[in-house]
Amino acid sequence: MADATIDCLIAGAGPAGTAAGILLAEAGLRVVIVEKQDFPRFRIGESLIPAVNATLKKLGVWERMDEAGFLRKYGAEFLYGDGSQVVHNVFAKGFVPGYEYTYEVERKRFDQLLLDRAVEAGCEVRQPVAVDSAEQVDQRWRVKLSNGESIDAQWFLDASGRGGVLPRRLGMKREEFDHLPRRFAVFNHFRGVQRRPGCEAGNITIVRVPDGWFWSIPLDAERTSVGLVTARNEPGKRPPEIFADCVARNAFLRGWMADAEPLDDFQVQADYSFRQPRYAGENWFLLGDSACFLDPVFSSGVYLALSSAEHAAGLICGQARERGYLTDSEQKSYEDNLNGRVSVMNKLVSIFYDPYGFSVFMSPTNRFRLFAAVNAIVAGHTQMEFGLRWRFALFCWICRLNRRAPLAPLVELS
Ligand SMILES: Cc1cc2nc3c(=O)[nH]c(=O)nc-3n(C[C@H](O)[C@H](O)[C@H](O)COP(=O)(O)OP(=O)(O)OC[C@H]3O[C@@H](n4cnc5c(N)ncnc54)[C@H](O)[C@@H]3O)c2cc1C
Repeated sequence: MADATIDCLIAGAGPAGTAAGILLAEAGLRVVIVEKQDFPRFRIGESLIPAVNATLKKLGVWERMDEAGFLRKYGAEFLYGDGSQVVHNVFAKGFVPGYEYTYEVERKRFDQLLLDRAVEAGCEVRQPVAVDSAEQVDQRWRVKLSNGESIDAQWFLDASGRGGVLPRRLGMKREEFDHLPRRFAVFNHFRGVQRRPGCEAGNITIVRVPDGWFWSIPLDAERTSVGLVTARNEPGKRPPEIFADCVARNAFLRGWMADAEPLDDFQVQADYSFRQPRYAGENWFLLGDSACFLDPVFSSGVYLALSSAEHAAGLICGQARERGYLTDSEQKSYEDNLNGRVSVMNKLVSIFYDPYGFSVFMSPTNRFRLFAAVNAIVAGHTQMEFGLRWRFALFCWICRLNRRAPLAPLVELS
């Protein structure tokens, strides 16, 4: 016998879990969110893209973002490590009109904001409590928690991040969907990192270096998140030394980080770009990172987390609510929708890592409004109307063509 019977059990209170919880609880369903860590807790993934804005409004937190002190992000700046070329993607100049800015967020505060909102919407929360196991009993999920509780739920939504509770339980084998060398990230929060002036002060800076890239994300008036994503694994060198060497080798970064002072211990995360073979079944969903993880260079993680949560909640609250299960076509629509978004962002990621593609990215032209189209994809507009679709396809084709017929100068990374 279970201790309680509910509509939806959500594993994980990251953005995917709390977003789904808010929408389901507001639709009148009984929702329990189970989070294994105590909040506030550190999480990486601090730069949002404008494609999240509509969902943040729907969740009722958009108005709270300025109040919470998050910095406004009006665009993204891309450079080579020697500072020789700079491209600025300004969201307001994108092909799709609308959101001119979004936010940089310290995740411990952003995730807490969403969790508070979930409680306000009616979710019950178990924390710090882990989902230990989940099995199907009479077309429901019987979920065992680390506090000894057993809960029966009609729907199980796994938003437990890259560790994925349900994929392990279902014996899923991850697929890698890029063929790049394995990368890892080494990062820290710093004081004293340079900023651009004016309204560019909150923008993300991405610096391309030989085996990867740096991010610099302003978090507040003082603190900046800086990280290196690299495939360079030098035996005998610890990741913070690889980070320091890479800063020292690149003229732009030497200046940018000249007065930088680390505020915490460096952290390292590996394990890049995968997707699970399935994202949904009759009465379960994988949300956000639990379903798939894409290289974070275009800051798409929270967007994919929120959009998958929104879609899953929409399906549960639709015809499936009465029926109690998803049809094959509903499961497929969920998987196709998420794969569609991932595939667009992944095209941009592949271009970024391909020196020929990146040369085109760094030599923008607004002929046929191509630069405006790329800006719109950088902002996360993955649900493309025809005008954006053909422009982005043309841009991708030019990136490929640059291998055969030099159209944009190839910059040697040093
Ligand atoms: C180096 C790096 C840089 C990144 N930069 C960005 C960026 O700039 N912008 C961006 O949008 N994204 C970025 N991302 C991606 C981003 O971190 C994730 O995509 C995002 O956090 C996914 O949200 P989520 O809710 O799916 O999972 P998470 O945020 O990982 O939340 C999962 C939650 O589940 C909990 N949990 C785990 N197991 C259990 C269990 N058994 N029971 C209960 N709870 C459990 C965890 O404690 C956690 O709180 C980056 C990622 C990396 C690695």
